Amino acid sequence: MADDLAARLAAVDARIAEAARAAGRAPAELTRIVVTKFHPASLVAELHRLGVRSVGENRQQELSAKAAELRALPDLEWHFIGQAQTNKARAIREAAAVVHSVDRDRLADALHRAAEPEAPVLDVLLQVALTADAGRGGVAPDGLERLADHVQAACPSLRLRGVMAVAPLGEDPARAFARLHECSERLRVSAPTADWISAGMTGDFVEAIAAGATHLRIGSAITGPRPLHG
Ligand SMILES: *Cc1c(COP(=O)(O)O)cnc(C)c1O
Repeated sequence: MADDLAARLAAVDARIAEAARAAGRAPAELTRIVVTKFHPASLVAELHRLGVRSVGENRQQELSAKAAELRALPDLEWHFIGQAQTNKARAIREAAAVVHSVDRDRLADALHRAAEPEAPVLDVLLQVALTADAGRGGVAPDGLERLADHVQAACPSLRLRGVMAVAPLGEDPARAFARLHECSERLRVSAPTADWISAGMTGDFVEAIAAGATHLRIGSAITGPRPLHG
């Protein structure tokens, strides 16, 4: 089991490096986040032994439980990548170093208000909807700059780092990620340092790297199939 995990991790990292070189980019520019949703904390601990330091979860309860169980592991950084309810903002902020899925003022406000007095600044990305299908969350591209202005003006405990998206089903991911790259360029007009692009999953990380992704969110290619869930 552990050997399989190590082999899958190494194979994905080799594909990432190859895709980066093919795109004329340095592999070291890329942050590979291992998405561990539905897998037990023991798998995250195993990944940590293999050198993984960035892991992603998409549900607050699972994030909180695993982060608490594994809090003794040094330098482990949790990324929250799922749709968030405002009433979970405090719990998300306690556990996560980065929230990829800010898509509305109310969520940004809730994350900001959840800061304890001495809390470190929280890195956030704005999730962009690359399709009109609202089911997966995200701000419409034409609302991106307004949301960014709100985060920068009204939420000083948040640090705006960039954009995030999931490629829509049924569309060439390269085309979708090209739109995300345009969103990133527009965002950087008003927020020059917000240059992270979180994109690329098991099925499309090569296309994401070609389109300028800086943060890859890769689950099943590394963890193996997710256990069944209800
Ligand atoms: C589950 C998930 C991923 C990883 O998906 P895989 O296809 O298993 O790599 C990436 N991003 C988000 C938002 C997810 O929910």
